[in-house]
Amino acid sequence: MAVSDHVDLNQFMEGVKKRNPGQTEFVQAVQEVAQDIFEFIDDKEEYHEAQILRRIAEPDRVVSFRVCWEDDNHNIRVQRGWRVQNNNAIGPYKGGIRFHPTVTESVLKFLAFEQTFKNSLTGLPMGGGKGGSNFNPRGKSDSEVMRFCQSFMNELFRHIGPDTDVPAGDIGVGAREIGYMFGQYKRITNRWEGVLTGKALEYGGSQMRPEATGYGAVYFLRNMLQHNDEDIEGKAALISGSGNVAVHAAEKFTEMGGKVLTLSDSDGVIHDPDGIGQEKIDWVKELKFEKRGRIKEYAEEFSGAEYHEGAEPWDFEADVALPCATQNEISEDEARKLVDNGVKAVAEGANMPTTIDGVEVFRDAKLLYGPGKAANAGGVAVSGLEMSQNADRISWNTEKLATMLEDIMGDIHEKTVEYGTEGDYVNYVKGANIAGFKKVADAMLAFGVV
Ligand code: NDP
Repeated sequence: MAVSDHVDLNQFMEGVKKRNPGQTEFVQAVQEVAQDIFEFIDDKEEYHEAQILRRIAEPDRVVSFRVCWEDDNHNIRVQRGWRVQNNNAIGPYKGGIRFHPTVTESVLKFLAFEQTFKNSLTGLPMGGGKGGSNFNPRGKSDSEVMRFCQSFMNELFRHIGPDTDVPAGDIGVGAREIGYMFGQYKRITNRWEGVLTGKALEYGGSQMRPEATGYGAVYFLRNMLQHNDEDIEGKAALISGSGNVAVHAAEKFTEMGGKVLTLSDSDGVIHDPDGIGQEKIDWVKELKFEKRGRIKEYAEEFSGAEYHEGAEPWDFEADVALPCATQNEISEDEARKLVDNGVKAVAEGANMPTTIDGVEVFRDAKLLYGPGKAANAGGVAVSGLEMSQNADRISWNTEKLATMLEDIMGDIHEKTVEYGTEGDYVNYVKGANIAGFKKVADAMLAFGVV
């Protein structure tokens, strides 16, 4: 038995800051989890003694590599690529690849850390990882994107595998990029195996994967509302982003009888008081995924809608909000605006879209607040089901997968309520942190000091 030398939360966070200088996003993600976990493990000596949280907050491995590629004008371009393998206690590392100029090691470490808890919550055997590059696909030709993806995979292939680490898509990485990367992996290794998820249906992809994150976030929102004897029918929503998660959240919200008022991108927001119904959503899907256009074109196409350059959705009145763009898009001020504008529930399709101060505002206002690690877990859950289908060389139909997704989101909601209920309020952040932590921590205890 070790001599007990517990650090308190402040000492723990000081250590995290010292070991990760300048990595503000990573420190923020650890802090958000640590405050709940310290409370939970207060009387649980085994977790303290084994330094479990300290170990989860130290990635198993961070691989950083140079990615060279040639643009259409024959210029040689140099980018940086990473794969962060955070924790594989309960299954192979699993988590998306992000291509965006804002990608840094800190951003990927925060995402891989969050992913560890999220994957645990799904109940499926998946550890946490994340990867990406500061490459910006915006404005690049298909051949440029292909050459970049091939070059990225020329290094990444050494670090991944169906039982080791199974990446997927994220911001800037959709079906096109996954196709190029899978093709290159297959070419280098001469193996067809389920090493990436989010693949197209023709080569081992799963039905429901593109829809899963957005649909799952709306299921989670509905579960939170129903737990409070309310429903989506007749409610108005603010949605940020206009990518994969945002459009599918809009689709499911509309199907359940709600009205979507906004979508956005990094240039601005469109507000449509008539509602962004299914036909308009189909138009946005074509705009974003085929023509690779900008959301401001929506206001030129549909009369009644307005485009606000440089603005965000949080200025408008609504009943609920689904942030589905990126991290830290809701600060303390924006959280206040949401509360003042009548929003009663927030379900995060994006990862960590709310800052710690913003979360405090939601908690103080007793808003129903579903953090990303619970509310957007539907995507990785269906990725886990894609891995099972690939391993068994089978494919399940949409109905079966839709039911499985709905059930998994229901189970996650139940777990977060179990660990997050505080009197008459459900603290979903705490519920998700503790439920996600417990499974990973218990597996780590079983392995001893490794
Ligand atoms: P996409 O690339 O399909 O779409 C991202 C959207 O967010 C675009 O509209 C983009 O606008 C906007 N956006 C990106 N960065 C910024 C920024 N810095 N400021 C404002 N807007 C921005 O990505 P996804 O829809 O797949 O991902 C969105 C979020 O959901 C991310 O946080 C991701 O980690 C999370 N997520 C995604 C999952 C998935 O299955 N895809 C699973 C779980 C979580 P623009 O075109 O101008 O960049």
